[in-house]
Amino acid sequence: MKKFNQVMKQLTQPPIFTTKEVGEPFICKCGEEVRNVEFVQPKGPLTGKIISAYQGCKCEDIQLAKDILQEREAKIEKVFQGFDSHSLINPQLKQATFENYQPTNQQLVQAKKDAMRYVEIFDRNEPRGIVITGPYGTGKSHISVSICKGLM
Ligand SMILES: [Zn+2]
Repeated sequence: MKKFNQVMKQLTQPPIFTTKEVGEPFICKCGEEVRNVEFVQPKGPLTGKIISAYQGCKCEDIQLAKDILQEREAKIEKVFQGFDSHSLINPQLKQATFENYQPTNQQLVQAKKDAMRYVEIFDRNEPRGIVITGPYGTGKSHISVSICKGLM
């Protein structure tokens, strides 16, 4: 049986593997030299498998990040489209956002700030409500829709 220290040493050491260059290096459109390398996967479910990868520039990583962001934006757009087509609120209110809410006095300027702050600090794991009161025509519904969109 291995001693605890030996096991810990093995677990904390970085995986040792050597890479083998495949083919000729080339210059990416970003100007960096890129090499195609292969290595044997030292750990994990793919242990022993030969992995091929490009080294030298971040273009592939950047593209991957862009794809993920684009996918996320598409999902958000879908949620907004669902809101627009299934919501029972009147068409004018569907356009409501914080950006197009125009407070007519200092109290409403503060109400807008408070509502925006509510969205900013809202925690999905510990959701808390908000109460909006005020006279007719001051924008309670507008602010409510803005909050709703801010939380989507
Ligand atoms: Zn590149």
